Amino acid sequence: MRLGISNIISSTARSEHELGGAKLTLKVSPRARRMRLHVDPRTRSVVLTMPRRMSQRSALAWAAGHRLWVEQALAAIPEPVPFAPGASVPFHGEPHRLDWDPARPRRIERGEGRLVAGGPAEGLERRLLRWLQAHARDLLGRETREYCTKAGVKASRIGVGDPVSRWGSCSASGTIRYSWRLILAPDFVRRATVAHEVAHLVHLNHGPDFHALVAELLEADPKPARAWLKTHGAALHRIGPHS
Ligand SMILES: [Zn+2]
Repeated sequence: MRLGISNIISSTARSEHELGGAKLTLKVSPRARRMRLHVDPRTRSVVLTMPRRMSQRSALAWAAGHRLWVEQALAAIPEPVPFAPGASVPFHGEPHRLDWDPARPRRIERGEGRLVAGGPAEGLERRLLRWLQAHARDLLGRETREYCTKAGVKASRIGVGDPVSRWGSCSASGTIRYSWRLILAPDFVRRATVAHEVAHLVHLNHGPDFHALVAELLEADPKPARAWLKTHGAALHRIGPHS
């Protein structure tokens, strides 16, 4: 009897398969030297990157051998936190209960350990998202300018978005962009990210001078902030809708 890999990976379409109960997408990369499995926490799907010269069949067989790892990675994905009444939403690193009362005005207000929302249930999620993003844009803008003054540089543009894999980025033209989700993290994490991006306005690399400048701007060691994001970053991506 021949045991095919179809017992473990079931094909649903030409390059769409299933592994460990999740959708598996095959990506052929001319630059990939070896195979790589990645579990996307946002979509709960698996991406298998394979070199061009490899057969799809051997790539799938290799992936099937890593089913346990995939199952564990899927199980480790934090639970989603939809912006629904009663939800616990982290804000500045502290849990805030989302209190909704349709009799109250539409605007969002911050109370002691809670975010108070009014208006119709419809659109509540979007209203809270916009409020958090506006708060993030204001605060990150202010802190960026503060560190820019300290470093004697200027950012040409400061913006927020919802990137998957970066908390901040700095372009050669001096544009700094952040993930709005930094507003969910503790203050020391957000500030370390700002110091990191502002230091890139001076050094567009991760060399010793760059790291020295980050520490000088932050007046602290940025390592705990990086460690925090490594541990809790995935959970931040599970909060609220994606913009
Ligand atoms: Zn960097």
